[in-house]
Amino acid sequence: MKCPRCRSTHIHKNGKQRGKQNYICVKCSRQFIDFYEPKGYSQEIKRECLEMYVNGSGFRTIERVKKVHHTTVINWVKELGNTLPDTPEQDEIPEITQIDELETFIGKKKQNLVVDSSE
Ligand SMILES: [Zn+2]
Repeated sequence: MKCPRCRSTHIHKNGKQRGKQNYICVKCSRQFIDFYEPKGYSQEIKRECLEMYVNGSGFRTIERVKKVHHTTVINWVKELGNTLPDTPEQDEIPEITQIDELETFIGKKKQNLVVDSSE
């Protein structure tokens, strides 16, 4: 759990609002609802993961650092290839070739997974 404004992890519970846990950031006093839905991540986390990927980090590295499952990051990268959302370093994102490489990567991973589970 991090503050959506200042990224501080110094968060205190602040009662409930409409059945959802409310939090307050001790550092900047920002109040926010529990925005970490089990099925999704904030746009901020997503962008940070994608920036890590664009800067050469592997999916496992991103998973370790950002605590986002690597398949989620892979999905985001594929999504990025389709839509190219507004990221600050948009110009530096390689387009087609990167996605080809990504799919090759995913293909190998899948094969490895099949082998792993059958042995
Ligand atoms: Zn804060």
